[in-house]
Amino acid sequence: MLLDRYQRPLRNLRLSVTDRCNLRCSYCMPEKEYVWLPREDILHFEEVERLVDVFLDLGVDKVRLTGGEPLLRRDVTELVARLSPRPRIRDLAMTTNGVLLADTAQGLKDAGLHRLTVSLDTLHRDRFEQLTRSDELDRVLAGVAAAAPIFPGLKIDTVVIRGTNDDELVDLVEFGRGHGAEVRFIEYMDVGGATHWSMDRVLSRREMLERLSAHYGPIAPVQEASSAPADRYRLPDGLVFGVISSTTEPFCEECDRSRLTADGVWYLCLYATHGVDLRRALRGGATPGELAQLITASWEGRRDRGAEQRLAARDRAPLIPLATLRRDPHLEMHTRGG
Ligand code: SAM
Ligand code: SF4
Ligand code: SF4
Repeated sequence: MLLDRYQRPLRNLRLSVTDRCNLRCSYCMPEKEYVWLPREDILHFEEVERLVDVFLDLGVDKVRLTGGEPLLRRDVTELVARLSPRPRIRDLAMTTNGVLLADTAQGLKDAGLHRLTVSLDTLHRDRFEQLTRSDELDRVLAGVAAAAPIFPGLKIDTVVIRGTNDDELVDLVEFGRGHGAEVRFIEYMDVGGATHWSMDRVLSRREMLERLSAHYGPIAPVQEASSAPADRYRLPDGLVFGVISSTTEPFCEECDRSRLTADGVWYLCLYATHGVDLRRALRGGATPGELAQLITASWEGRRDRGAEQRLAARDRAPLIPLATLRRDPHLEMHTRGG
């Protein structure tokens, strides 16, 4: 098994299929304008498949399609259909903002997608518009309603921001219950792109649990051995929800994930400032064996523990200045995929 410097395996690949998005979430794309990846650099589906096969040879067994907004990638269901017959992909999932989901959920299922996560931060229309700069809440809700029966165990991911949506924890838990979906509350992270981040806007896992137990009563952790980032909890009535405490209690120690941008640059950590240009290697004629060598050497040298290092930093401010993001769009969260 391929292991990095901290004995972490390479198992989990997040594939960004586009850097474009139809929302402008304040914690991800708060600026007016963005620099996009050149279209000719975006990997064709055959190229994605060739790279995925090399990753599968090296031990990856979980693949998540993300972006940007993955449903904006033309024919993304075709990509799902191309990938899903590979038995070595034990888990083929997608994270979407849900805007285009109502019309695509069945097609994604038919194409062989295993699991789906919808990002949803608020149930208030005006707040949604403020948070995302789009009046699309109704379409997202229709997307969730359409997808929930098709994808049992649907996940709903909510970034919690103090003073913005932190009064909706209970409402979102109940919304999830109504759809048979599991809500996961994500701490606001200072990733590239989050140029408005500040520590005082982070609602910690501890505070989330305090607020939820004030409403529901005692909350018990669900004991499970996995490298999944969400810690799961059970309400007294049995309902399970998750918390992803990437900011205050990072899980770098067990991190088996890496990210491939839509133009084929491979990042070994969400916080890494440099990636491995697999597109250049691929288009330069590298064989699968040569690509495997490149990936192996990079992973074996991996020492990334980005979120832990950020936690240790004093005077924490947004990670990457705007001018730097403009120079290299790969540093954006919406480019490398969440
Ligand atoms: N556009 C899709 C969506 O929003 O679901 C997929 C890509 S998005 C970058 C993936 C996930 O990253 C989303 O759930 C989003 O909420 C999360 N995310 C983006 N910026 C974040 C931040 N600053 N802190 C925590 N999570 C963030
Ligand atoms: Fe929001 Fe996802 Fe788009 Fe980022 S990529 S702005 S999180 S919908
Ligand atoms: Fe993994 Fe980097 Fe995130 Fe830590 S910060 S969990 S090493 S991707």
